[in-house]
Amino acid sequence: MQISELQINQVNRQIQALVKAGSFYGKKLEEAGIFRISSPEDFEKLPFSEKNDLREAYPLGLMTAPEEDIVRIHSSSGTTGLPVIIPYTAKDVEDWAVMFARCYEMAGITNMDRIQITPGYGLWTAGIGFQAGAEKLGAMVVPMGPGNTDKQLQMMMDMKSTVICATSSYALLLAEEIEKRGIKDKIHLKKGVIGSERWGEKMRQRIQKELGIELYDIYGLTEVYGPGIGINCPYETGMHYWDDYLYIEIIDPVTLKPVPDGELGEIVITTLVKEGAPLIRYRTHDLSRIIPGTCPCNSPFPRLDIIMGRTDDMMKIKGVNVFPSQIEEILKGFPEVSSEYQIRISHLDGRDTMRLYVETNGSVDFLDLARRITGTVKSRIGFTPLVKVVELGLLPRSEKKSKRVIDERYE
Ligand code: ZN
Repeated sequence: MQISELQINQVNRQIQALVKAGSFYGKKLEEAGIFRISSPEDFEKLPFSEKNDLREAYPLGLMTAPEEDIVRIHSSSGTTGLPVIIPYTAKDVEDWAVMFARCYEMAGITNMDRIQITPGYGLWTAGIGFQAGAEKLGAMVVPMGPGNTDKQLQMMMDMKSTVICATSSYALLLAEEIEKRGIKDKIHLKKGVIGSERWGEKMRQRIQKELGIELYDIYGLTEVYGPGIGINCPYETGMHYWDDYLYIEIIDPVTLKPVPDGELGEIVITTLVKEGAPLIRYRTHDLSRIIPGTCPCNSPFPRLDIIMGRTDDMMKIKGVNVFPSQIEEILKGFPEVSSEYQIRISHLDGRDTMRLYVETNGSVDFLDLARRITGTVKSRIGFTPLVKVVELGLLPRSEKKSKRVIDERYE
C-alpha cells in the first residue's frame, strides 16, 4: 500500500506537532534535518520509532498537545522496566470510539445488540475501548470487566447478551463453564469479538463449537489508540484496518525496507490524525502481511493478515528470512503430517542448514513425503531444508512456537 497524497499531508501535520513539542521523535527529525515530506520516497527516509523510545519518555514525554487538551492517559503493561504512558486528547478518544464502532459494524453488530464486555477497565486500553465503541454504535453495554464467572454467566442469561468481548482464553473458559453447567439453551450469544492476543486455530474451533457463535479478531495496541484499529469481516479474509486514521507498512525486519504487498514482514504503523501522542513509523514487531486485492465484502479498507508471530521468532538461513509461521503454513498443506514440528538450524562446513522434523503415521512413504515437503519449502521460501519424517508422537509437545525452533549455530 503506497502512501497517498492525502496521507503525506497528514504525516506533515504530525511532523509539525512533534517538532513543536520537542518530543523524542521531534528531536530525531531535527537531527535528521527532516521537517517535511513530499513523496513516498521521502516518507521512507523518516526514522523509525520503537517501544524503547516510548519507555524512555516516561512519564509524560510523549505529550504532543497542550496540557489543557489532554483528557486521559493510558498505559501499556510494563513487564520489563518502565511502562509506556500515552496521553489522549478529546479528539483522540472520539476517533478511537469511531474506529471501534466501525469494528462492531464490520462484524455485523448493531444498536440492537447487547454487548457484554469482559476485558479489564483501568489504565490499559481494553475494557474502555470496547465500551466507547459500543456506545458510539448505540448498543447496550453490559460492562462486566474480567473474572467472577458466576455473575458473568448470570448477567449473560438475564440480560440476554448477544455479543461477548473477551480474550480468547476467557472466552474458552466461559464456553466450558456454560457446557459444564448445562445452560447453553439460556445463552443468547451470537458473536464474539476477541482481543488481539495470538491464538491457535484449534482454540478458535473449540470456542466456536462450544458456544456456536461467529468469532471476530480485533487488532490494536495501546501505543496506537488501543484495540479497534482493525477487525476481520464475515468473509474471514484478513483484518480490515482504518487507513484514514493509520498508515501501515510492512517492512523486512532486517533490512528495514518495505516489502511488496502480500509478503510477510513486520507491521509498522504511522498515526495520521493523532494529537496526544502521534507516532511515526512505529515498529510493532508483529508479523503479518498486507493482503492484496479487494475483499469479497467490497469494503474499501485494506486488509492485514492475522498476526503470525513476532519478529523475535525470525530465523535467517542462507541469507533468507524465515519465520516459523511460514513453515507452519506449508505443513498445513500436508494433511498426512501432525501439527507438531521441530526446526533445528546448524552451521556445518561453512553453510547454514535447516533440519525440519515432522511427524506422520506409518501409512505413508516417509521418503516420498520428505521429498515433497522439501520441494515445497524450496519453491515457496527459497532454500532447501533437510526434512526428516518421524513416527507420530516422537516430537516434544509445546504450546509455544519459539520452543519449536532450536538454533544450534550460537550454542
Ligand atoms: Zn471484507
